[in-house]
Amino acid sequence: MARIIAVANQKGGVGKTTTSVNLAAALASMQQRVLMVDIDPQGNATMGSGLDKNNLEKSGYDLLTQNTPIKECIFHSEKAGFDVLPGNRDLTAAEVELMEGGQNVLRQALQEISGSYDYIIIDCPPSLSMLTLNGLIAAKSILIPMQCEYYALEGLSALLETIDGIAASVNPELQIEGIIRTMYDPRNRLTQEVTDQLVQHFGDKLFRTVIPRNVRLAEAPSYGLPILVYDSNSTGALAYQALGGELLRRHCG
Ligand code: ATP
Ligand code: MG
Repeated sequence: MARIIAVANQKGGVGKTTTSVNLAAALASMQQRVLMVDIDPQGNATMGSGLDKNNLEKSGYDLLTQNTPIKECIFHSEKAGFDVLPGNRDLTAAEVELMEGGQNVLRQALQEISGSYDYIIIDCPPSLSMLTLNGLIAAKSILIPMQCEYYALEGLSALLETIDGIAASVNPELQIEGIIRTMYDPRNRLTQEVTDQLVQHFGDKLFRTVIPRNVRLAEAPSYGLPILVYDSNSTGALAYQALGGELLRRHCG
């Protein structure tokens, strides 16, 4: 059975998509069978994995609202090295259609194919919307990317309340996989302060790996490539490889 990890933080621009795509690629390079699920109408993870969001045969919209079998909605990205269940702005319509009791649709669909993968990574949108809810209910754990900046911890309590609410009701299995510090800049005075607070709150749930600010990470999506393919020697590539390794070691005990 796959480990299903939702990458979520309702704060925008913290590195959710960069982490989803590049962690998926890192795990795939370590002989893991990986599916990346894009449930963000922005479709950035879809594009970043080398699929054209404006030209999708099938997408998460079909899965979530048209009863299309999940296998028909999954495509292999040759460039990226993993499977993708793509998404685009059609998901905005799905958001509305799911309002009436549609919170379990993704969970049920992923259960059907869970045996075919080692990891399923879900890239969530920057909101606590019905789409994110579908992601969190489908997941076994949540990976939270965070920037070490002044307001970073503020939004976190809303997210933690949501996680607690879901764990107490529909998805008792849901755990925090970990917190990953992104766009990390050790020269910034706040970095150490926020890190200390994260250690206090989350203990060893805080990944030791940090993802540095690296311009190559920002460039790679415009070529539809994970960093590992775009520039395998960059500090960004090495960091995401390290994150994949740390995750695997945690899971293998
Ligand atoms: P949204 O909330 O809109 O979905 P997000 O949380 O998915 O955003 P990303 O899209 O991954 O965040 O990152 C936001 C921007 O920062 C992007 O332009 C991305 O290329 C850039 N970025 C992410 N991580 C890094 C990094 N470590 N170094 C440099 N740039 C980065
Ligand atoms: Mg994103």
